[in-house]
Amino acid sequence: MNRFFKRAENVHMQIYIAVMALIAMFAHVILAVYFLNAGLIFVTFVNIADIFLWIVAFMFALTGKTRLASFICMFALIAYSIIATYLLGTGINVHWIALTALVPTAMYFDFSKNQRIFLLASIFLTVNIQIAISHLFPAPYPQYDNLFLEVFFSNIIILGIIIGLILNIVIRRRLAEAHAKELEDFKLMSFVDPLTKLNNRRYSEVFMDRMQRDKMERTCCFALLDIDNFKNVNDTFGHNIGDVVLAKFGEILRENVRNTDLACRWGGEEFLIVLNKCDLETGYIALENIRRTVEQAVVSVDGNDINFTITGGAAVWDDEGLEKTLDICDKNLYIGKRSGKNKIVV
Ligand code: GH3
Ligand code: MG
Ligand code: MG
Repeated sequence: MNRFFKRAENVHMQIYIAVMALIAMFAHVILAVYFLNAGLIFVTFVNIADIFLWIVAFMFALTGKTRLASFICMFALIAYSIIATYLLGTGINVHWIALTALVPTAMYFDFSKNQRIFLLASIFLTVNIQIAISHLFPAPYPQYDNLFLEVFFSNIIILGIIIGLILNIVIRRRLAEAHAKELEDFKLMSFVDPLTKLNNRRYSEVFMDRMQRDKMERTCCFALLDIDNFKNVNDTFGHNIGDVVLAKFGEILRENVRNTDLACRWGGEEFLIVLNKCDLETGYIALENIRRTVEQAVVSVDGNDINFTITGGAAVWDDEGLEKTLDICDKNLYIGKRSGKNKIVV
């Protein structure tokens, strides 16, 4: 898992914990008011203490400390479950509050296996401690076997679990989408040469595989273009300025081929062009146009105005296959270099 994905996951966890904390705070405010009204000061105090815990969890979630926030949530749920069950008994279903801790335990992605085991064991323990307490120490307020609280706790617990699960599904779907998009971006990036922003040789293989598989009409014009005397550019101005020249050539190529064509960095200062649905005659005109544009271009860096030229060897893709076509391009390029450079040979 890379850093971007982790960050996206954390943002979603922040939202999840914040929403759950707000729901919990709201529930405890209602309970605190209810118990205060009923004159149960200690139970009111327990609810207020829980509100504080949820505020702390909420703040930690907002500041990105989601793992800590999650532990506080779990502590708040488990502690409240035990204390409230002791104080009020099991008659109002408050002892099931511990179950809502199952959702964050199951869904919080960043928990390690051991942390998950510890939390699940805590939930089991809580349920059993509650049973033991309710048998060993009778609840101080047995009268709180009342309808409002029973309905309130039963529903808030179910609601907590349902909202938790829905958020879980939404968050996981969002993360899966983010991940898929990121993979797609990586795939695109792996086909691009960072210096010239053209496709790289790896992409040309994919492109040509597709050409063969789709049995495209074999009226494609292939050309190998090579920068003339590029070694001199490097020797005279330095490698960095050589790079700027390469980038400039990349820009010219990108501006002069169509979306359906291929312009890729074949290696070093050599480039492969595939002009789609194009015969040799039309191809020659297009390539000559590129050659002339390069000839007229001026690369200005560090007070130097640099001109450069290219030589190209072209061929039309014929029945003998891609290898043969590239071979002819190569031979024509060689002829062009031998006969004075700065020309397209077909
Ligand atoms: P020719 O006209 O015959 O093609 O001569 P040339 O000097 O262009 O050809 P040669 O093959 O002798 O030299 C190519 C040079 O291109 C050598 C290599 O250092 C340089 N080169 C290859 N890749 C890069 C690159 O990414 N950046 C820079 N600055 N130079 C590169
Ligand atoms: Mg060269
Ligand atoms: Mg070369």
